[in-house]
Amino acid sequence: MHVLLVEDDSVLSDGIARVLKSYGIVVDIVDNGNDVEAILRRAEIAVLVLDIGLPGIDGFEVVRRLRQQGNNLPVLLLSARDAVQDRVHGLELGADDYLIKPFATAELVARIRALARRHHPKPVELAMGGLSLDTFAKRATVNGMSIELSVREWAVLEYLLQQASRVVSKQQIIDAILPWGEEVSLNAVEVYVSRVRLKIAGAAISIRTIRGFGYMLENATA
Ligand code: CA
Repeated sequence: MHVLLVEDDSVLSDGIARVLKSYGIVVDIVDNGNDVEAILRRAEIAVLVLDIGLPGIDGFEVVRRLRQQGNNLPVLLLSARDAVQDRVHGLELGADDYLIKPFATAELVARIRALARRHHPKPVELAMGGLSLDTFAKRATVNGMSIELSVREWAVLEYLLQQASRVVSKQQIIDAILPWGEEVSLNAVEVYVSRVRLKIAGAAISIRTIRGFGYMLENATA
């Protein structure tokens, strides 16, 4: 899952990003309201976490513009002020939820997941050939036995499963698993894929290498 965090307090945004990453959530950070639209055009964002008090256009204005454009991306407002009027105003403009600072990070994660789930009622479980990923509990099993995946390995496998039986390039994998602007080499993708292959070896699926291009996850042929 990919979240855009709009927060001008860099200490807070770094802290939030660290926590979200530990939950396997990919985070892009911008520190002002003006850059939001450009990022939304470039990346497939599942939830917008939006501070109200921002330099440039503020959080209220960001929400107002999005909704005016017919964009129904889930928005979670972060409010520094425990002012009922602010929260009412934000919700009336079209925000979906809010949190008052300071908040518990576990609550932030729970609300982000709830918003993503409501917006994208995708199956919670991705399964194929004995491999199963519970995308909300973050639990992976092969033939019913749990397997341990790093955050990156999980992201690669989740993406390949979503695109099962389709050829995906290494660059598409990078775009799907990393925040915009963060770089890893194509070689790193090969490393993630080879680790994932070992971990799902017991399942009746295989990640086929399409030489010079990328990969395809498919049912294993006997
Ligand atoms: Ca602020």
